[in-house]
Order: sequence, then structure tokens, then C-alpha cells
Amino acid sequence: MPAQQQQVARLMTQGPDAGIDRAEEIARIAPDAPAGFFAQTNLPGLFFVDPSLELEEGDVGLPAASMASGVGGMGIHWATLCPRPRQSERISFLPDGELDAALDQGERLLQVRRPDAAEGLVAALRRVLADEFDDDGFTPVEYLPTASRWEGGELIGSGTDVILGDLEVRMPGFELRTETLARKVLLDGTTAVGAELEDRRTGEVYRVGAQRVVVCADGLRTPQVLFASGIRPAALGRYLNDHLKMATPAALSGEFDPDAYHHVVDSPTPFVPYSDTRPIEGLVVPLALHAVTGQLDLTNPNIRRAAGIAWYGAKELQASDRVEFSISETDYYGMPRMSIRYSFTAKDHETVRMMEDCSRRIASRVGTLLGEPVLAPGGSSLHYQGAARMGPADDETSVCDTYSRVWGIENLVIGGNCVIPTATAANPTLTTVALAWRGATKLIEGLGAHESG
Ligand SMILES: Cc1cc2nc3c(=O)[nH]c(=O)nc-3n(C[C@H](O)[C@H](O)[C@H](O)COP(=O)(O)OP(=O)(O)OC[C@H]3O[C@@H](n4cnc5c(N)ncnc54)[C@H](O)[C@@H]3O)c2cc1C
Repeated sequence: MPAQQQQVARLMTQGPDAGIDRAEEIARIAPDAPAGFFAQTNLPGLFFVDPSLELEEGDVGLPAASMASGVGGMGIHWATLCPRPRQSERISFLPDGELDAALDQGERLLQVRRPDAAEGLVAALRRVLADEFDDDGFTPVEYLPTASRWEGGELIGSGTDVILGDLEVRMPGFELRTETLARKVLLDGTTAVGAELEDRRTGEVYRVGAQRVVVCADGLRTPQVLFASGIRPAALGRYLNDHLKMATPAALSGEFDPDAYHHVVDSPTPFVPYSDTRPIEGLVVPLALHAVTGQLDLTNPNIRRAAGIAWYGAKELQASDRVEFSISETDYYGMPRMSIRYSFTAKDHETVRMMEDCSRRIASRVGTLLGEPVLAPGGSSLHYQGAARMGPADDETSVCDTYSRVWGIENLVIGGNCVIPTATAANPTLTTVALAWRGATKLIEGLGAHESG
């Protein structure tokens, strides 16, 4: 789709924020954040959960928390970075072999490329990062796996189209209903029997019956649909966590001047993966080699020599970090209004200091920081996890079992970043797709048993 048409289509999905300039709004929310360096959060096609939130004493909120309502959700915007979870990011109550098999499937479905070798500038940067950060007990520095491919000189990210493939052809009866809101799951006692849907074009509300129901409505709205359905376990909305995010521009020194290297367009990004003793994940992205260079003026030597140093940090999990749903007020879509209660722990402040320190450590090796490392406004990572998390037992600290089946409700399976139960710094989509594949596989097994039984 031509870029302009793509832009228009994105703006049309901005729902309640139609006409809002997100860059200006982010500048209002976080006047200290370096202008233009959180471009990901500024993208058209996203809309804010609650940018004017009223904070209670001690709360930091997630003022930049955003959602996407186009077909494909955030999956049409994402940057496709797909690291695997490491050390305690992994889900300890899933057998290692099963988790790895699910992650393999996630990589296959998303068509993830895992580069293990590269040349030129990125190889030089990787050597420096390894020298600075590799040590006993730490996950070694590597290149970031991405769910993307080159087609006709263009880098194409794997979106929902890649996952669905030719499902429409292979599965007669499969139907994707656009502009359709799932208002609630219909229950008969403790059994899911269908869904109430709304055609947003006509306002018609209708019901569809189903023997099994799957809700995948993103990290915040999967719990919202459960709440709207009257499914309100104690852990619903709780343990919400969003990656701490810090991105600082830097000027590369002469040693890392891209012009001194053979230019490799399709260069992987060197990155520092998560380790328990350093619960952050970091990248150095030289703008001259980055895939979005088509949008930058690379004739400008300052831009050619610029790089981004970015970190994601794991948020310490607390039951009190939560999205709450109103029983009386509704949002733009007529669903229970969400408000977020979120606070930092002493460990979170330590993690933020670690991200600042590590930004300076990288800069001291590769060039100079062009600004102070500043924490991005809460919600900027766009990775909202935990609010309907899975657990090994129905003990009020989880919403679903290890196959994403909602505790106490038969035939109801959920998906989205909300099911991830661990504190992570790794970008979540690969893990979420892996867990969805695992839940779907179990659901299909049950279907076979049901049909033959
Ligand atoms: C700019 C950007 C860059 C990103 N980069 C990365 C990255 O590099 N790596 C990574 O791992 N992640 C990244 N992410 C996050 C990634 O896109 C999400 O993790 C992923 O898309 C989550 O999938 P999901 O299905 O849970 O939610 P979504 O992709 O948001 O899909 C949810 C869908 O549910 C629909 N929906 C919600 N409520 C209802 C309802 N009541 N009825 C009907 N439909 C409903 C929404 O309209 C949407 O289409 C990025 C996100 C953005 C925006």
C-alpha cells in the first residue's frame, strides 16, 4: 500500500483520538523527554488509554499507554524485534522443553530471522558491547532476531497477514469481521456459549453461539472483555507491567563512522539481552544502517553519524499495579472505562539508574551522548503485560491456566501480552504468540476428542 494511503488508513483507526497529534500530546505528557526520540509512541493509528489521568499519592500511572484498533492491532505497527525470554523472564512453571517448542513455533509463525553473524559497523559495535557487558552469569551480547524480510529492496515486517496466511482459502467458513466490537462473552453458568457483538457501522448488537470462545483483544482489552462479561477473578487487571523505556541519541565517534565501513543495508542490530543480575535489554541502532533510513536525510553528516541507545527495563511485579474497570462509566466504544494505578518500587528506581548508567557506558565506548538519558513516559514501551496472567494454580494470583484457559470457565481461552506472568525486559510478542500457539493446540486437541467422542 502506498505510504500516503497507509497513513490515512492508520489515522482512520485512531478512534477516540481522531485528529489528535500524538507527538504534541506526548510532549505535553512528558515535557522533559527528548523531542522526536520516542517516535514509536507518536505513530498515527494509536490512541491513548487515559492521557489525562489523575494520579493518586505515590502513583506514576502510565500516561502514554496506548492501544490500536485497526485490523491487525498493534501488529500492523510493530518494529518486529523478537528476542526470546531469558533466565527468569522464562515461565518457570512451564517445562523447559514445552516452552522452547512453543517459542520455536512462535518464530516459525512470525517468520523470525535469527542472525548470528554480520560484518562491518554492526560487528564492530557488537564486539564493543560484548567487551563491555559480557561476563559470567550474563546472557551474552548477540544480534536481535526480527520478524521481517526484504522484498524488492523494502523491509517488510510480519504482521497478522503472515500469521493468518491463506486461512480464508484453507478454512471455508473462516470470517474476519471488520468494525465489529466484541462486547461480552456469553455464559451459561460456567460455560462460554458465544459472544455478543456490535456492528460499529450500524450499531446493531447481535449474538453468535459457539462451543468454544477465544478472546485476544490485547494486553488491556482482553481483561476488559472478561470484566464486561462478568468474569472478574481477583487477579483480573492486576500485576500489570510495562517495560521501563529509555532511548538516548548519540553521535558515533570516528572509529564507528558508517562511512569507514562497507555499507551493509540489511544489518542486524547488536543487543544486550536480559540477565537476572542486569534486568534490562539494550540496543545500539546506528541510524545510517537502520531499516527506516529511507525516511531520514542521510546526506546530513550529523544524521549519518547518529545512533540511538535504547534500553527496556523489567518492572518489578506488584498486585497493586493494575488496570481498573468502571462499573458505571464507559469508554469511546461503550466498554467499561479503564483507569490505571501504577507505582514504582525501590527496585524499579534502581533499574532506571542502571539504564542511565548503561547508556553512559555504551556512549563512552562508541561516541558521545547527545542528551541526558531520560525515562520515557510510562506506557511508552507499548508492552502491557500481566493483567490476565497465567499461573500454575487457581490461587487468586492468576486468571488462566498454563494453556490460557480462564480458571473456572469452561471453553474460554484468552490471548495477548496480558497472559505473560513474568517480569521481563524482552519485547513480548514472540512469547505471546508462543503461548497462544500452546493454548490453541490444546483447544484443538479438545475439539478432536469432542468430535470423535
Ligand atoms: C509502534 C510499535 C512497535 C512495536 N514493536 C514491537 C517489537 O519490536 N517487538 C515486540 O515484541 N512488540 C512490539 N510491539 C508490541 C506488539 O505490537 C504487541 O505486542 C502485539 O501486537 C500484541 O498483540 P495483541 O494481539 O495482544 O494486541 P494487538 O496487536 O493490539 O491486537 C488486539 C486487537 O484486538 C482488537 N480489540 C480490542 N478489543 C476488542 C473488542 N472488544 N472487540 C473486538 N476487537 C477488539 C483491537 O482492535 C486489535 O485489533 C510494538 C507495538 C507498536 C505499536
